[in-house]
Amino acid sequence: MELDLDAAARCLLEARYVIALTGAGLSVESGIPPFRGPNGLWTKYGEPPMNGYERFLADPRKAWEERLNPQGPMRELWDALARAEPNPGHHALAELEEMGVLQATITQNVDNLHRMAGAVRLLEIHGNATLIRCVQCVARFERDEIDYVQLPPRCPRCGGLLKSDTVSFGEPIPPDVLAGCTVEADRADCMIVAGTSATVYPAAGFPIAIAERGGDLIEVNPYPSDLTAFCRVRLPGPSGEMLPALLERVRALR
Ligand SMILES: [Zn+2]
Repeated sequence: MELDLDAAARCLLEARYVIALTGAGLSVESGIPPFRGPNGLWTKYGEPPMNGYERFLADPRKAWEERLNPQGPMRELWDALARAEPNPGHHALAELEEMGVLQATITQNVDNLHRMAGAVRLLEIHGNATLIRCVQCVARFERDEIDYVQLPPRCPRCGGLLKSDTVSFGEPIPPDVLAGCTVEADRADCMIVAGTSATVYPAAGFPIAIAERGGDLIEVNPYPSDLTAFCRVRLPGPSGEMLPALLERVRALR
């Protein structure tokens, strides 16, 4: 373990441009239920329809009524999101960014916890559950900036349809975020992959592309994944333990 941490810290310090990719494992450690797996919301309540975006566009008023008065899995998820706090893994990544070691974080999580921990250069590839986005002009708003008297609410800037910033099934990744992710992944020669088995595209493509051009991947995950074979270093454990330990090694070696 000591050797793994040393190797990972050296990778970070020798790289020109380090980014991170994070996923559900980090959220689960903050008490947010996963979607998949034995305790997953979809395992308990059943898979949601795979055409969520199409259904939203077909009846946005109904989608907003459900959103403002959530039931079943959505109730459970919103309650967990409202309670959740960043864990030591989120704080360690924010600290690495503050130190100038980490340049940007791409997250598949929608829980806002990276931002709460202090991450600045953050790309939320599946959106942010605390924000509302205009389908037309892509402007984003805080929830309390919007008037919900008439549903669906309309964009204060352009009058376009508003939806949750969270990316629905069948919805394209917002173009500004996807472009930002591509720019960061193209620059990177080292990526920390934490709490994700990186099987959901487009996020899964970034670490593979970095590894294929000879960059280093550092995997932080209790279990091996499809990505493990591509990784230079594997830190087998929860992000909340491994990332703070890695931060300490970086501090010691710097
Ligand atoms: Zn708009």
